[in-house]
Amino acid sequence: MSEFSVNIGCEIHVELSSLHSKLFCRCPITYGAPPNTATCPVCLGFPGVLPVVNEKAIEAVLKVALALNCKINTLTKFDRKNYYYPDLPKGYQISQKYLPIGYDGWLEIEVNGKTKRVGIADVHLEEDTAKSIHGEEAGDPTATLIDFNRSGVPLCEIVTYPDMNSLEELEAFMVSLRQLLLYLGVSECRMERGQLRFEASVSLRPKGSNQLGTRVEIKNLNSFRAVLGAVEAEIKRQREILLSGGKVVQQTMLWNEALKITEPMRTKETAHDYRYFPEPDLVPVVVDEKWLNRLKAEMPELPKQRFERFMHEYELGEYEARLLTAAPVTAGYFEAATKICGDPKAIANWMLGDLQGLLNDAGKGWDECPVPPEHLGEMVKLMREGVISVRIAKELLKEMFTTQKSPRQIVEERGLVQITDEAELRRIIEEVVAANPKAVQEFLSGNEKVLGFFVGQVMRATKGKANPQLANKLVREALEQAKVTSS
Ligand code: ZN
Ligand code: MN
Repeated sequence: MSEFSVNIGCEIHVELSSLHSKLFCRCPITYGAPPNTATCPVCLGFPGVLPVVNEKAIEAVLKVALALNCKINTLTKFDRKNYYYPDLPKGYQISQKYLPIGYDGWLEIEVNGKTKRVGIADVHLEEDTAKSIHGEEAGDPTATLIDFNRSGVPLCEIVTYPDMNSLEELEAFMVSLRQLLLYLGVSECRMERGQLRFEASVSLRPKGSNQLGTRVEIKNLNSFRAVLGAVEAEIKRQREILLSGGKVVQQTMLWNEALKITEPMRTKETAHDYRYFPEPDLVPVVVDEKWLNRLKAEMPELPKQRFERFMHEYELGEYEARLLTAAPVTAGYFEAATKICGDPKAIANWMLGDLQGLLNDAGKGWDECPVPPEHLGEMVKLMREGVISVRIAKELLKEMFTTQKSPRQIVEERGLVQITDEAELRRIIEEVVAANPKAVQEFLSGNEKVLGFFVGQVMRATKGKANPQLANKLVREALEQAKVTSS
């Protein structure tokens, strides 16, 4: 790779899935609803209907543009992008070409401890198309059916400059952008549902040259893995062409996940002339100071701020703070649980350790965690109060996970309260000591390590309910006693 520098850019379509209705009509935004049930004459593209813009969609894109440090156009308007396709019955898509909501911003990424700004060329609002369902999925290998539920769903399109120079930077950009969008609450960003869609452009230039090479766009990327795989394959393809003295052709490629190669799209589809012109059915939108100031005041805490706050307010390490603020769902969970028990360190450890393990085993994400944060907080509180030991807590958490019961309820039902009664523990220790004369002999001959063995035996006899500190202390006392008696 040393002889070429790589430039990677992205175009991202984000479904504003958190909104209640579509961009130009009042139809709901649905996923998985029966086909063509969330439609009306406007989003079906009937002639003679008029679009009415959803103000909330403009606000959502304004928030994205602000969070991406963009300049904001005080006058923003819509344009028609003309093309013919069965999923676009009007024959044009209402988009923004000349005065997008935001432009010239940046997103900060971090790779190997170094921060870098990826430039954002354009942030605009447009409508989604309907969805084509082909072949077997449509119940007929020769058929294509159209589902208009997606038609007119608001999309925020983000276009970057080709500022990324490696796969690592590309991955960091995708992760950071998704995180930012989740924090803004504009979309659920579920890529498998098409709520977040990436297209990439790749070009190579000789090292040292500052003139960009011919760029190739890649579509059909429905996961981070696909984007990274496709860009890697495309870099390799272009490099081989250039090394053999050939020229890269400017074109659009499709990612073939099965063959791990990029393939040219049919040229007919790449020869675009969209004949953009101002949308005559919609008036331009004035974004005044007052509106912008209100939105700025309404902006949620963003990932970087939350990460820094977690480090100073909860005294978490960088590693823990980063993991916990990776998504608003984990950050919110952490704060809610900590509020109950006042022990941020313990909550962080349980979340990143045992609870994450249980979620992984169950194939669940934090948004479907069966243990509510209040329960985890209560469990840590029970430990702090000395009611349960760590070992019991581990068992308890498993049961909380499967039964969804509160820790207090399980502790009461199963009598898991820790044994802190000295007399009761002494009696158990006496039995353990009597049952292990050999180990007692070892202790008497100076092997202190057998202390741990005895504490372990006490834990086993009490099914982990003995208070560990107390058990330790009483075991030592009992063995010292044995020493006295034997001498
Ligand atoms: Zn509609
Ligand atoms: Mn678009």
